[in-house]
Amino acid sequence: MSGLAMPKPDAATLSRRAEIVADLARIVPGEGVVDAVNEMRAFESDGLTAYRQLPLVVVLPETTAQVSKILKYCDERGIRVVPRGSGTSLSGGALPLEDAVLLVMSRFNAILDIDFMNRCVVAQPGVTNLGITRAVEEDGFYYAPDPSSQIACSIGGNVAENSGGVHCLKYGLTANNVLGVEMVLMNGEVVRLGGKHLDAEGYDLLGIMTGSEGLLGVVTEVTVRILRKPETARALLIGFPTSEQGGQCVADIIGAGIIPGGMEMMDRPAIHAAEDFVQAGYPLECEALLIVELDGPGVEVDHLIGLVEAIALRNGSTTCRISTSEEERLRFWAGRKAAFPAVGRISPDYYCMDGTIPRKELPRVLAGMRELSQQYGLRVANVFHAGDGNLHPLILYDANLPGELEKAEAFGADILRLCVKVGGVLTGEHGVGVEKRDLMPEMFSQADLDQQMRVKCAFDPNHLLNPGKVFPQLRRCAELGRMHIHAGKMPFPDIPRF
Ligand SMILES: Cc1cc2nc3c(=O)[nH]c(=O)nc-3n(C[C@H](O)[C@H](O)[C@H](O)COP(=O)(O)OP(=O)(O)OC[C@H]3O[C@@H](n4cnc5c(N)ncnc54)[C@H](O)[C@@H]3O)c2cc1C
Repeated sequence: MSGLAMPKPDAATLSRRAEIVADLARIVPGEGVVDAVNEMRAFESDGLTAYRQLPLVVVLPETTAQVSKILKYCDERGIRVVPRGSGTSLSGGALPLEDAVLLVMSRFNAILDIDFMNRCVVAQPGVTNLGITRAVEEDGFYYAPDPSSQIACSIGGNVAENSGGVHCLKYGLTANNVLGVEMVLMNGEVVRLGGKHLDAEGYDLLGIMTGSEGLLGVVTEVTVRILRKPETARALLIGFPTSEQGGQCVADIIGAGIIPGGMEMMDRPAIHAAEDFVQAGYPLECEALLIVELDGPGVEVDHLIGLVEAIALRNGSTTCRISTSEEERLRFWAGRKAAFPAVGRISPDYYCMDGTIPRKELPRVLAGMRELSQQYGLRVANVFHAGDGNLHPLILYDANLPGELEKAEAFGADILRLCVKVGGVLTGEHGVGVEKRDLMPEMFSQADLDQQMRVKCAFDPNHLLNPGKVFPQLRRCAELGRMHIHAGKMPFPDIPRF
């Protein structure tokens, strides 16, 4: 693993491995425990593929009762646990630890209830994001948050990462679409937060749980809101001679009070890579390409198209195509949706970053990124959820060249520092995980971090759930408040910054 220190393996736990495996097999009989090294290889990494680690053992429970028994067992013996959904996290959230049980939730794959009256679906956490839409689409409904990984990622993972996608600009992130969860605490207690009802009194624990990256509890059931499919959806493909003009157009569209169903931008390298890959019909002469989707009743969509076209022209657009059929709309999106693999074809490796900035800072951040690209000697292709100000710079590098991965990581860290500097945040939707863990002090003060860790202590006082993720260093709950940051650096020389 490059430059990343995880918690040291607990020697006692490692030496008790055979006993732990046997005990877990009693809780989850049949094929629920995987301990052969060659079989565990399938779980040694997640979407952040530069990092790999075999777990102590893999366990695949099927029922909440089994999850409860596993966690209680581990809690009583001080054994660490890393929850995992489909393993598509791009920030290393599901990266195993050598001395931790990897709790894989993929066998929780049933839709439990489809309730059109209350416009919600109750699903087990291993159901894929797209699986929810598939279950209701024949009846004219869908689940709005749509990560590009939706064919594979689990709804439990979406809750843990507060995942987003193209349609979150108008319809909100996972946090805005999850109504309730059943979850198991590290001590084995099963609790329910929220439900089909709109809101409940008391602290918003569901809000805390959403985006908690597997550090507070294991989600065993999820209730999500479903929406009626819009009557019409049409997309505009708008080309600009500069990214700055594209960025200004985005700001002006939002400033005019228009909230598109989706608004995505790609820069020249991403446009060319996507066009070569899927032939979506993208204009190749422009520096920035904006895809704006407007949805709703037909008359409203037609009206908004006219407004957006006029705003684009005022910002110097050189091309503007409007989809005239569903097939064409999907073709416009095909290039954007395939942008990551398309970029994968023009470089041996790429490193996908995820920062968020205030929309108006886009030109400044793009200029800063260009400077960094020259400084590091690495190319970058940009794909943005432009409406949300969520950037996905893809840094191109070659892992076979000594030092290139480290260079790409340093470049990525500088991009995130730039995002924070202009008033943005370290992550838009991919989470902190291990990837951005050591950058947390760039964004949060000591008091901020302490308060967040107190929340962790309230759920998992022994810090056994997904340790080494999100927080640069977890202190014992009783010690909180004693740690200080010196000159913006954490006083932990044993944790290299990446
Ligand atoms: C090609 C590609 C495109 C992507 N595009 C997007 C995108 O557009 N938007 C976006 O937001 N993300 C995107 N992602 C990132 C990723 O798909 C999301 O973060 C997703 O929500 C992870 O779900 P998962 O089931 O794979 O979770 P995992 O990767 O298995 O786990 C992610 C985190 O959730 C925790 N976790 C998983 N299940 C549970 C559970 N049941 N209870 C408690 N904690 C749990 C894990 O401990 C870990 O911290 C993309 C990833 C890839 C590979």
